[in-house]
Amino acid sequence: MSPARDRLEAERDELARLAPWAQASAESRGRIHAEAEHAYRTAFARDRDRVVHSRAFRRLQYKTQVFVPHEGDHYRNRLTHTLEGSQIARTLARTLRLNENLAEAIVLAHDLGHTPFGHAGEKVLDAVMREEGGFDHNRQTLRIVDWLEDRYPEFRGLNLTWEAREGILKHGCRWTHPVAVPEIGEQPSLEAQVADLSDEIAYLNHDLDDGIRSGLLDPTLLSSCSLWAETEQSVAARLDRDVDASILQAQVIVGLINRLVTDLIEATGRALDEARPKSVEQVRATKGRLVRYSKETGNLKRQLKEFLYTHLYQHPQVAAVSEEAANKLAGLYRAYSKAPERLPSHVVARFGEEGEARAIADYIAGMTDRFALAEHEKLLES
Ligand code: MG
Repeated sequence: MSPARDRLEAERDELARLAPWAQASAESRGRIHAEAEHAYRTAFARDRDRVVHSRAFRRLQYKTQVFVPHEGDHYRNRLTHTLEGSQIARTLARTLRLNENLAEAIVLAHDLGHTPFGHAGEKVLDAVMREEGGFDHNRQTLRIVDWLEDRYPEFRGLNLTWEAREGILKHGCRWTHPVAVPEIGEQPSLEAQVADLSDEIAYLNHDLDDGIRSGLLDPTLLSSCSLWAETEQSVAARLDRDVDASILQAQVIVGLINRLVTDLIEATGRALDEARPKSVEQVRATKGRLVRYSKETGNLKRQLKEFLYTHLYQHPQVAAVSEEAANKLAGLYRAYSKAPERLPSHVVARFGEEGEARAIADYIAGMTDRFALAEHEKLLES
């Protein structure tokens, strides 16, 4: 026996190890452009690696998750958010005997299409692009992996598998797209469902953490949130001495993530036990989602999410910074439309392809926060 494992062996290993409802690499529907398989990496491991090596992935480092007015090196950005989400997805996928590589690839890609300045930037681009089909970050993520990344001589995009693209697309496609779009069934794969909820667990928890640290969220207000209050009580009961407030806070976050992930594993296990899908195709034909929380925890999670919307995402200070950033992006769009000669030549070269507006939107959406601010200063403040 060779000491190294080849791809066929890795695929066989998956088929033996994964549940019948998992998406096996060997059963992928393949890629838009036919390619020879890799010698020892499975199709989904290759998807994951392509995402990590993309330019859009590296730019996540300088894009805001929640645009808090206090700059600091310890706050999350879209890259660290993505990494936290992907680790949660790996734990869930492994424990539920799903395809870890696929779930990981989907989470690593899921935020690539975000504009600078989070949802505030997305809203601006959607408004200025209204006549041209609007703007949506999921659509933009698919555009990036299918069309805008430019690394291969034979094709455009990253040429990811159908299954990774299905997970990225999430809710179907209501817009024109340059290449054929995956037809989504009732549900995407369980790996895609895991990816979705891992993203949510990651942001709920790190936004609580960052929100408190920034002083925008008052930790005493959080006791009105049952999930937080219960977790805090159980953490305090376990710690037999008075600890620093920051350690207590960190431990509550640890406890919260653990509680949500554990509940998801247990409730999903029960749902799978009941539904017993024999294949991923049966998963895709199921009416409701099988990856889910128990009713009780689902309600508590919803309450926590509402709390964050009210007290953090709509906080006057966050809203003020977001509004200022949004105005700057709108200004940039207008400035480029009026004076396209200010655009780099690679953007102008794309005008004929899908129109001037879409080429400018692609360019602005790809910017990091700091690049957008610098461009605004260069074009409009001098
Ligand atoms: Mg996300």
